[in-house]
Amino acid sequence: MNYIPIIGLEIHVELGTKSKMFCMCPNDPFEKKPNENTCPVCLGHPGTLPVINQEAVRRVIMLGCAINATIAHESHFDRKSYFYPDLPKGYQISQYDHPLVEGGILAGVRVKRVHLEEDTGKLLHDIPGYTPHKPTTFVDFNRAGVPLMELVTEPDIKSGEETMSFARELQRILRYLGISDADMEKGQMRIEVNISLMKEDAEEFGTKVEVKNINSFKAAADAVRYEMDRQGEILERGGVITQETRGWDDVRGITVSQRSKESAHDYRYFPEPDLPPMSFSEEYINEIKRSIPELPQAKRERFMREFGILSSQADDLVDERDLADYFESAVSELLKMNSEPNFSLMLNYLVSDMKGILKSEGKNIGDTNISPEHFARLIALIQKGELSSRMAKDILFKMHVSGDGPEEIISSEGMKFVSDDNALLPVIVEIIEKNEKAVSDYKKGKPASLQFLVGQAMARMRGQADPERLRNLFEKELS
Ligand code: ADP
Ligand code: MG
Ligand code: ZN
Repeated sequence: MNYIPIIGLEIHVELGTKSKMFCMCPNDPFEKKPNENTCPVCLGHPGTLPVINQEAVRRVIMLGCAINATIAHESHFDRKSYFYPDLPKGYQISQYDHPLVEGGILAGVRVKRVHLEEDTGKLLHDIPGYTPHKPTTFVDFNRAGVPLMELVTEPDIKSGEETMSFARELQRILRYLGISDADMEKGQMRIEVNISLMKEDAEEFGTKVEVKNINSFKAAADAVRYEMDRQGEILERGGVITQETRGWDDVRGITVSQRSKESAHDYRYFPEPDLPPMSFSEEYINEIKRSIPELPQAKRERFMREFGILSSQADDLVDERDLADYFESAVSELLKMNSEPNFSLMLNYLVSDMKGILKSEGKNIGDTNISPEHFARLIALIQKGELSSRMAKDILFKMHVSGDGPEEIISSEGMKFVSDDNALLPVIVEIIEKNEKAVSDYKKGKPASLQFLVGQAMARMRGQADPERLRNLFEKELS
């Protein structure tokens, strides 16, 4: 039997505002000292009153504009009542029937709604050194009241792969817009996957299962694949799927039943009486629209068009806005030096070599000492054939450390690119004499031996020879 997977996502994102959602406490859930960033409001003391963080509201509306959604002109907060020790008020301020944002589309998936709510505190079980004689749970409210955005998609997603690419694109957009760092490992972005299977010819969706506790993009895709198999087997046996919440166990790579799903009426939603309703003018919304920078997809398409690069190359560049900006600055510098700039060459040095250096140091493009102009000068030198790739990589690293330009490094290091036959020929002769075996292999028709000889000569020249020239000279000498 063939089943079609139906997948919808609920994604929570902590907004990177300065203060919390309804009080002036710093929004820093990573504060090490427990309960440092708390006040009577976010601790839920009776008699205190919340105040809406306008910046948090603006950020959610901004995301709505970026995905071409409908922005509510009138909206309000609701109380969602439930008990949990990390929720001191006994209710969460959230939004129920009038979310800030409805509709919209992102990475080909329809968005149902985006609303604003507050995060909960954190429970800590058995802290080493703090735990007395019996198991104890501690509560840290530093995260309580942090602005939390929830985005819900329509069930338009069809695979683990699509789940991952949707979530990645959302993360990029959130970062481009400066809404949140949306780091999954830090819990700033939390994905819940809803999944059901339906027979190809069925009229209605099957019963869905919700999977929580997903802490990476890969885990999201793995959880989808696991549930597809699990549900498929049950249905194949003639069994029924129970609507429930399951947790992803990353170590075992399986989902585990947590609880049967509660429905909306259990929460007794009603309009939050302590907060005024919100209304937004057309002018306010338009101003937010105008503030939206070029988004990843538009940038990808433009880069492919303007620089003639492949879609996979554009993906690499657009992944981080700073990297894309750096590339564009370097391109405009290169254009001043070379009327036929090699964009692909520049891109390779940026995405593989430069990013490689940064990654090994745990840094970002903003941390390098190489200015876009210096970077362009290096590429121009490579393009003119004045550097071997080995020299270029050496110079790049030295530029990164010192902030000097490529020419300065070449002269201060006494580097010289040798392509002059008179200087290269003695080395060729020496290498031929020392490598009888490789020479005879080459003459027997093994082209790899020529590569070996070129490598030996290059090493002898400390990487500062023209590899093309070496190859030609060997061919000539050995013919
Ligand atoms: P609930 O009221 O149970 O939370 P919602 O209608 O709010 O359900 O949808 C929650 C999420 O589940 C959404 O992302 C939606 O796309 C997804 N979803 C709804 N129905 C299904 C289904 N049959 N299979 C998979 N996902 C679904
Ligand atoms: Mg729901
Ligand atoms: Zn507070």
